[in-house]
Amino acid sequence: KKPVPSDIDIAQASRLKPITQITEELGLLPEEVELYGPYKAKIKLEVLERLKNRPNGKYVDVTAITPTPLGEGKTTTTVGLSQALGAHLGKSVMTCIRQPSQGPTFGIKGGAAGGGYSQVIPMEDLNLHLTGDIHAITAANNLMAAAIDIRMFHEASQSDEALFKRLFPEDKHGKRSFGRAMLNRLMKLGIDKTDPDELTEEERSRFVRLDIDPDTITWMRGLDTNDRYLREITVGESPSEKGMSRKTGFYITVASEIMAVLALTTDLQDMRRRLGNMVVALDKKGDAVTADDLGVAGALTVLMKDAIKPTLMQTLEGTPVFVHAGPFANIAHGNSSILADKIGLKLADYVVTESGFGADMGMEKFFDIKCRYSDLVPSVVVLVATVRALKMHGGGPTVTAGTPLDPVYSEENLELLREGTKNMLHHIAIAKKYGVPVVVAVNRFFTDTDAELELVRKIAIEEGGAYDAVVSNHWEEGGAGALDLAKAVVKAAEQPAKFDFLYPLDWSIKKKIETIAVEIYGADGVDYSPDAEKNIEKYTRLGLDNLPICMAKTHLSLSHDPNLKGVPKGFRIPIRDVRASAGAGFLYPLLGTISTMPGLPTRPAFMDIDIDPVTGQILGLS
Ligand code: ADP
Ligand code: MG
Repeated sequence: KKPVPSDIDIAQASRLKPITQITEELGLLPEEVELYGPYKAKIKLEVLERLKNRPNGKYVDVTAITPTPLGEGKTTTTVGLSQALGAHLGKSVMTCIRQPSQGPTFGIKGGAAGGGYSQVIPMEDLNLHLTGDIHAITAANNLMAAAIDIRMFHEASQSDEALFKRLFPEDKHGKRSFGRAMLNRLMKLGIDKTDPDELTEEERSRFVRLDIDPDTITWMRGLDTNDRYLREITVGESPSEKGMSRKTGFYITVASEIMAVLALTTDLQDMRRRLGNMVVALDKKGDAVTADDLGVAGALTVLMKDAIKPTLMQTLEGTPVFVHAGPFANIAHGNSSILADKIGLKLADYVVTESGFGADMGMEKFFDIKCRYSDLVPSVVVLVATVRALKMHGGGPTVTAGTPLDPVYSEENLELLREGTKNMLHHIAIAKKYGVPVVVAVNRFFTDTDAELELVRKIAIEEGGAYDAVVSNHWEEGGAGALDLAKAVVKAAEQPAKFDFLYPLDWSIKKKIETIAVEIYGADGVDYSPDAEKNIEKYTRLGLDNLPICMAKTHLSLSHDPNLKGVPKGFRIPIRDVRASAGAGFLYPLLGTISTMPGLPTRPAFMDIDIDPVTGQILGLS
């Protein structure tokens, strides 16, 4: 057999269809398409209005068992399955994936375009700037950060009267007006006046002074680079800031709330509302200060006006792909956008979308957060399993990125594997709890033996009650290698859906957290730190207790401890803190320390990346 070339060699050797050919095949009208060069286009949201009476296609979510740090091939399987459906079985299909962050691209993991003969192309574009959505989020995030500091700066040195005059300057007729940006704050304060001069002195001072308590500011600056030296910084060091320095930090852009808003929003008006509702701090009385209070949410929405449109690309076999949003899979919900899925379901008979990490993480959030906000009903779950990860769960040595694999992972070992399948059975059970049929995709690596692959398949069906389980060889063969998987998914999608959420929103915060911990992770219970208790009380008081829960947990174990492999038993989940993404629309309990700004290893992926100065060809991106 010929060895499979590197991802970038395969991608660069492939023939690309002009993106206009893909938009025509999808039945998009030219006026619904905004071209970004020959191979990328953004699709306007107006298409949803035109196709609103068309029935939705089948909705397939790709998830995985508890992965190793190397990833078990969700993106690769998402793409391979789509190629099989679209280029081999003649179905109309749309693939929906997240936009990769440049952090991992230059850091440890490398790109996220799939792999082998199942990739999204041009992979250079996908992994680098694409159509600028992440940059737009960075810009919006940092405008917000500037808005907070400057407001505190001006409030500190000015009287109510002076603030009033500057916030509402007189026009040339000597008339003051509130201006668009202030209307939401007026409403929130319950002031029903149209003329600033009608405000009483008390209303004036309530209106102009946000009185932000600097110790409560949760908003930070953002950057799409793994730059750990920015985790903690001090701002306002120049003498011009009059000693108003304070400690803050950076997160990676994909961990920002605006990224989560983009992923969960359903239209422009909804995005404006969510951005306005983002809570950035508390005031000195303990009330929430929002983007609307700062008068910045309109400008944020303007910065995001193109990012809200999904970007269309293609697979190696010419099937369409939407790339849209890329929220972190721990402190956010780790799923691509609702809008891309919605448009995809109108344009195609099958939408194949990926949710980050394992079924305990991305899939649980796909169901309980994303599907709740979108009202979309999933048809099938594809659970990706690898022999490699299952052996690790059965007791094999730890698998770490950047170090060679132990020989146990390249030799047949049915005992380790059998023990490890317990992790897969747990994930199948999680998916089945939601009433959605599960197809297990055993992602074939060239070192796997037939006996190993068959054992996983058999256990998934016979002991796990999976609807089906198939071996898939799409990494080596492209769509042709995923034909059995595609056929199984088509059959499973005909099953009547009995989908339901794990919990109703009106349960208390604690009851929701405990339900996820016990029913999904298999914990005995939950313990809350004093900070967590305090914040649960605070969010309940602020009326945010009816939001869904987005657990910030390691993906490397079903538990909160990344070292506990297989199916951990007899553990309690410690909740260190609870935070809110009030605009995006979820509360996120922190289980242990979750880094929101990754670092770089000694030998980052960027050391392999270069460009051929003559041809302009990008080299070494993986
Ligand atoms: P995930 O989306 O689950 O994180 P990816 O699909 O990105 O995983 O795959 C992780 C890495 O593993 C990629 O570099 C991909 O090329 C590689 N990979 C996936 N499946 C296979 C396979 N069957 N054989 C060899 N490499 C694979
Ligand atoms: Mg992936």
